[in-house]
Parts: sequence; structure tokens; C-alpha cells
Amino acid sequence: MDLTAFPRVSLAHLPTPIEPLPRLTEALGGPQILVKRDDCTGLSTGGNKTRKLEYLIGAALAEGADMVITHGATQSNHVRQTAAAAAKHRLKCHVLLENRIGSNDPEYLYNGNVLFAEMHGATTEHVAPQPDMNAALAETGERLRSEGHKVYVIPGGGSSPTGALGYVRAALELTNQMAEQDIKCRHMFAGSGSAGTHAGLIAGLTAVSSEIAVHGVCVRTPSEKQDKNVLALANRTVETLNVADVDPARIETDDEHIGEGYGIPGPDTLEAIDMLARLDGILLDPVYTGKVMAGLIKQVRAGRFDKGETVLFLHTGGAAALPAYAGAVRPQTSPAA
Ligand SMILES: *Cc1c(COP(=O)(O)O)cnc(C)c1O
Repeated sequence: MDLTAFPRVSLAHLPTPIEPLPRLTEALGGPQILVKRDDCTGLSTGGNKTRKLEYLIGAALAEGADMVITHGATQSNHVRQTAAAAAKHRLKCHVLLENRIGSNDPEYLYNGNVLFAEMHGATTEHVAPQPDMNAALAETGERLRSEGHKVYVIPGGGSSPTGALGYVRAALELTNQMAEQDIKCRHMFAGSGSAGTHAGLIAGLTAVSSEIAVHGVCVRTPSEKQDKNVLALANRTVETLNVADVDPARIETDDEHIGEGYGIPGPDTLEAIDMLARLDGILLDPVYTGKVMAGLIKQVRAGRFDKGETVLFLHTGGAAALPAYAGAVRPQTSPAA
């Protein structure tokens, strides 16, 4: 497999560290829980989209684009990181923000990721929930091209085979780190949303014949459909790399932590956010990583892992959305208590 054949710009602080979570490990009574800090990729508060954008911006520049466009939910981390990456590479950036949760809270609509994306110079267009946001984005692309812009279209979440290459590369980074640091770990937990992270990891782990199981935790889509999305994107990704197809049995997701829907944290998610903040000083988010950690905690409590084992949590970022969710995550105890 040759990743150097694909144009790539450097955006992320790599490799991201792997650290223990000693107090969470103790609170749950083992196995040992480690975190890979992809929340620390460095670009505009970090997150998983930065790795994908290294290849997406690389492709946009190789095509001679002068503008990137993309879409996301109103509080999209992907949009914020895209806006920052575009600024750094002198590309204009226009984004569609879908009000997927039908909120009219001004903090949700304008603070957090929206504020940061606008600070990076992106122009934002708020839109009502759409049946097909990628189709709406394609239409916007046509309009902007007719106005003379050279547009590169980045799909939602950056989850094209090009974007997924960022997580193929991350899988290589992870297996190298594990070898160097003598970490023996057969299970990792990661979010499964637009699927580029999950699919890229599976493609990369397949390419290097690593047997680490990736437990994907769904944030929006039920497993029955999500598993197919992940498999399809993983296979499109290995196709571009010219390596063998992935084994469908490797694709596994848990859809029990979606709660009421995308972007709406349930009690399990809020508990996970609270535990990590208090125990190990780590900020999780209510849309993705809180749900993933809720899935990890559930499996540990169910006794699914031996105490001597090591389990790895991929922290994909998202804390930039917390100000927009202050009402949900603020501790209930009064400051004087
Ligand atoms: C986008 C995102 C994810 C999910 O990654 P996908 O590649 O879209 O599946 C997980 N965590 C955070 C914080 C994200 O922003």
C-alpha cells in the first residue's frame, strides 16, 4: 500500500499521544483504559476531521480549486476544522449548516463551532433539515461555479474515500505506536457517524493485517444501515489503495447510545461526559465522544473485557460544541454546595 501517491498537506500535530485514563480505569475496576488523543490534532482546537482534511485539501489544491464547500449540522466540528484548513491554504470556504435538531437557542445557532468557523472566514448559510444534504451541497456548488469560483466539494464529515485516507494513515500510526510502546490492545472504541473515521481505520488495519477490533458507536444511524455505510466506504477506500477488500465481519457497531437522535445527549452520554471531566480531566462532547464513551463504559460494566486487558478509546474531539450545549452539561450542584 502506497499512501504517498495521494496529494496531502500537513495540518495535524502527529502522532497524537496515547495516554492512560487511570481514574476512569479505577472507577470501573479494570480493564486498563487508554485514550488516543485525536482531540489534540492542533488545528482550531483539534479533532478527527483534521486528518481527513490533510488529504481533502491536498486534492482540492491539486485540482486547482480556489474554494471549498461543505455541510454539517449547525454545531459541526467538521465545518469548523474545514474553515480553518481552508484559511491556512488560501481557499475560500462556504458551508451549509443544517438545523438538524430544530433548535432556536441562539447559543446553539451562533456560538461554539459556528463562531469559530466564521472567525476563520467561512461564509455560513443556515438551512432547515433536508432529506439529502449532499444533494443540496451539489446544487450550491453548481451555483458558485456559475459565479466563477473553482469549487472543490467536500461531502458531509469529509467522508469520501479521499478523506478516509486520513484514518488509513491513523491506523498505521496507531499500530506503529503500539509496537514502539509495547501496548497490547485488541479492542478500540470509535465514533461512527459519516463513517470516514470508522471505514478508514478498518481499511488501514486490514492493509497492515492488524487484528484490533474496532467497536463503532453510532451517533445517528441504526446499526443495520450504519454497518452497510461503513463497509461500502471501507471498500471504496481500499479500492483506491489497491489492497484486498475488507472482511464484512470486521464491521461492528452499537446503536444503543444514539438516544433521541443525532445531537441529543441521553442520560448515559451525560454521565460519561461528567465522569471523564471529573476523573481524568478530559472534555468529551454531547454529540459524538460522550456517546462513544457511554458505549465503552456499558461494555466494561457488562464484564465484556478481562481485568488484565487493555481497551483503547479514540478521542475524536468535539469540545468546541460544549458552549452550545451548556444547558445540558452544566453540573446540577450549586457552586456553594
Ligand atoms: C465527525 C465526528 C465523529 C465521527 O466521525 P465520522 O468520520 O463522521 O464517522 C466523531 N467525533 C467527533 C468529535 C466528530 O466531530
